[in-house]
Amino acid sequence: MSNPPAGVEPYLERQPRLDRHPYCDSTAVLATMHDKLPLIAPAMLTAVGLDVRDVHVDTDRLGTFTGDVARLGTPWETAVAKARLGMNAAGVRLGLASEGSIGPPPGVAFVVAARELVVLVDDERGLVVGESAIGYDIITIAADVAPGDDIERLLQRGTFPEHGMIVRPAAGPPAPLHKGIHDRSGLDDAIRACAAESTDGRAHIETDLRAHHCPSRRPTIAAAAHRLAQRLAALCPMCATPGWGVVRVELGVPCQHCRRPVQLPSADVFGCAACTFEQTLTRPESRGADPGRCSWCNP
Ligand SMILES: [Zn+2]
Ligand SMILES: [Zn+2]
Repeated sequence: MSNPPAGVEPYLERQPRLDRHPYCDSTAVLATMHDKLPLIAPAMLTAVGLDVRDVHVDTDRLGTFTGDVARLGTPWETAVAKARLGMNAAGVRLGLASEGSIGPPPGVAFVVAARELVVLVDDERGLVVGESAIGYDIITIAADVAPGDDIERLLQRGTFPEHGMIVRPAAGPPAPLHKGIHDRSGLDDAIRACAAESTDGRAHIETDLRAHHCPSRRPTIAAAAHRLAQRLAALCPMCATPGWGVVRVELGVPCQHCRRPVQLPSADVFGCAACTFEQTLTRPESRGADPGRCSWCNP
């Protein structure tokens, strides 16, 4: 734990007046093909005065949910690469991008969650700052169907046509692939076309998870953008770089009965996106853990 040097106020309340924030009146580009500007720009404008504009670049070449382009990097690497695509296309040094991962959260089965990451890349200051949010309200359906099957209840569960659908052959060749379908006759046509190409005569239909076809993802992207904007609003107490926030959590709370450490969070470590300065904020609950959580007292 590092103690704040003389003259440095501890921990929070590091937000300057909006008009004095380093990003106020700057412009950043958001690389998106999926209508994410209204989810990300308002939070940035409100929290730090940053003007975000979208730049249309082919972010799908970095990987897609439909699997027709494989994802290679981690979500963080993919989001940073997307932001750089936009920055290069627009010729600016400040960029934003988001990347979603959809599936069961670690260690949890039978649940689908959307983990949305939003990053800011600042090549002027040499920074990459990101925040994520998890949404459990995402709506997804998937099934193999034959032409003429009664799929009305399935589609209702998937809130079609608000949520778009993807159709491909259920077996055999991966093509043709129909994406972004929002009308019933288009869906039926795609099922017939894909079933005809499938070795089992069936079509695989599933929710189109791209952000502009999947409204249930959108609040989680906005939540991640809000968290990122709040983080950017806080400046490092040492070097005044935007992005001061929690960089890791320390574990180890003494058991109230035996005083052995229990693996629960004891402190939040705040850090800077640019320099090595850190401050540790002890959590109030770090004084003692319930013996019921102790692996020695309650094995
Ligand atoms: Zn104990
Ligand atoms: Zn710093």
